[in-house]
Amino acid sequence: MPRPFRHSAPLELGGAELRDLVSACMDRLAPWLDELKEQPAHSLDGSHKVARGFDEPMPEHGVPFRRVLARLFDRAIPVSLNTASPGYLAYLPGGGLPSTALADLIADVTNRYTGIWMPAPGLVQLEISVIRWFCSLAGYGPSSGGWLCSGGSIANLAAVVAAREAKLGEDIDGGVLYTSEGAHHSIAKAARVAGFPRRAMRVVPVDESFRLKRDDLARTVAEDRAAGLRPFMVVAQAGSTPVGAVDDLAGLADFCADMGLWLHVDAAYGGFFLLTERGQAALAGIERADSVALDPHKGLFLPYGTGCLLVKELATLRAAFAEKAAYMPPSQEDEEHWDFSDLGLELSRPARGLRIWLPLWLHGASAFRDALDEKLDLARSAAARVRALPGVRIVAEPELSLFAFRVEPPEMKAAELDAFNRRVLARINQRKRLMLTGTTLRDPALGEEVFVIRVCVLCFRTHADRIDMLIEDLSGAIADPRG
Ligand SMILES: *Cc1c(COP(=O)(O)O)cnc(C)c1O
Repeated sequence: MPRPFRHSAPLELGGAELRDLVSACMDRLAPWLDELKEQPAHSLDGSHKVARGFDEPMPEHGVPFRRVLARLFDRAIPVSLNTASPGYLAYLPGGGLPSTALADLIADVTNRYTGIWMPAPGLVQLEISVIRWFCSLAGYGPSSGGWLCSGGSIANLAAVVAAREAKLGEDIDGGVLYTSEGAHHSIAKAARVAGFPRRAMRVVPVDESFRLKRDDLARTVAEDRAAGLRPFMVVAQAGSTPVGAVDDLAGLADFCADMGLWLHVDAAYGGFFLLTERGQAALAGIERADSVALDPHKGLFLPYGTGCLLVKELATLRAAFAEKAAYMPPSQEDEEHWDFSDLGLELSRPARGLRIWLPLWLHGASAFRDALDEKLDLARSAAARVRALPGVRIVAEPELSLFAFRVEPPEMKAAELDAFNRRVLARINQRKRLMLTGTTLRDPALGEEVFVIRVCVLCFRTHADRIDMLIEDLSGAIADPRG
């Protein structure tokens, strides 16, 4: 049983001590994992009390590890949205592939330096390999590249910076970027951080399939040019967060090529469906984008903390981010060997590539492809069954694994429908076998803001039995929304 360390160098764990600690962790983790499917999909009762329990001074002395684990597993972890649960169909599910934890353990204990190539060539090269795999999924050629970061928001930020550098250079006055109503809010954040005030961002309306309207885009770009402004970038969606919409990527690529604009595709949610045939078809044209943001912690099921930026020309990242310093070793200048610090914002960074490389070698790409294909099937069958329920209108069809709907009982007044749908949603969530979320959006069928319920199937643990529960709980909620 691991004890607090009383010897003279308490931080210098030996192999046997580490093994004991990992084993104590596993004593809690293994049963937790085995009962995950039976756990509620969310449980926030007592949030404030739990949070208060962790508002405490820094401990001067260590305590037995099992006590530390007990506080985590008995208090902090249970009071949460259960983002790893198969019943979590809310926001964008984060499955949390356990094999990634093995990679993190190895990466953290060995603590190799991967900010540049020289100190850990094998680990950096395997990460370059991971990026090359992703580039080939996106249909990019040999001069492409990219890096892994902490998430899609950072990838989007770096894309805006790369686009700004490539299209505007040092003088960014009058620069304007374009996106759609469906864009994730990280794009607006990225624009501001990259030096563009809110007035420099145009939000273009979407059509009845929630795709950016190209005519409106063309008109806005022309007006801005005529006004002496400098359009430089279009951000397209490949799986929008509210409804999973995929913009007409090939059409936007044509337009951007004609206009000399940088095309960035935010594929943080939808990108890894490229592993499947249906995903390839849905995202056709992505290979012509200048940059693509992906989130392995969504579509590749990883635990949180891994995003990815790909660029068609690696040189565009070097141009935006490379810096020299006298105390640093000389940079890698060739195509094969990359210094990640020359390509992005970070210098010191974890060996992130291992989080993807190890699970792919352990399970094989086919395991991920099959899981993603299953999610596409589940979303389609769920949408078909939801549509058949009384009063349901599908507002956004499942282009990938996400759809949105609204319950509109014919006898109900239009003004009451939003409140009714919020009640239906609350009623479904009350059972805790599932967690769903909603959003308001401008409904193309009605031309007004409405509240819709979303279903996003993206956890590798979600199977057909949860869709059965969805139909059961939703039918019950429609019949009796007050319960
Ligand atoms: C999740 C998401 C983001 C933000 O990614 P984070 O990893 O949460 O930073 C950006 N765009 C889209 C479309 C997303 O779904």
